[in-house]
Amino acid sequence: MGLFDGLAEAREQKKTEGFMRAALKEAQKAYDMHEVPIGCVIVKDGKVLAKACNKRNHDKSVLSHAEILAIQAACKKIKDWRLEDCTMYVTLEPCPMCAGAIVQARIPHVVIGAMNPKAGSAGSVINILKTPGFNFNCEVETGLLADESSALLSSFFKDLRETKAAAENTDGTSEDEETTDDADGDNASADSADTESAEGTDSDSE
Ligand SMILES: [Zn+2]
Repeated sequence: MGLFDGLAEAREQKKTEGFMRAALKEAQKAYDMHEVPIGCVIVKDGKVLAKACNKRNHDKSVLSHAEILAIQAACKKIKDWRLEDCTMYVTLEPCPMCAGAIVQARIPHVVIGAMNPKAGSAGSVINILKTPGFNFNCEVETGLLADESSALLSSFFKDLRETKAAAENTDGTSEDEETTDDADGDNASADSADTESAEGTDSDSE
């Protein structure tokens, strides 16, 4: 009996990892679009219901976080704003906005990759997902494939810093209007807060 239990558990673990890998694939998509690489997958009845990546710069919208886009897609698919039988897999600990949306959508189970010490709202800074006063609390698991998620973020911000340094070297200027209007310059300034948080994640894992 112990053996069968162990096998079932191993199979479950493999499935769970598979869903986080799908979320990491979404994060890679964001990376390729020069967005902060964060990915999210929402699972229902053992199948992927919706997936999304961070598209903040692409959409020019602060709302376009991976979790929000995935929630929107999932709700559209099941024609309901409640995601009561779903599990969310997300590569980085949700921010306050996304954690709030998770509570509003009543997602009962969230699996997180890397933690975000500077903005995480599932235990790092605050824990919106488990607040005793709320009438809804979700079950949270953390650290699944965290190293892979952190590595992707670190590599992204390293690229960003190198690109920025190279641009400054060739231009001889750093803060002229042209750079600010430029999409990459925009990227760099908009994401400076995330750079810090990703570095925080990085140093934590090292
Ligand atoms: Zn968010």
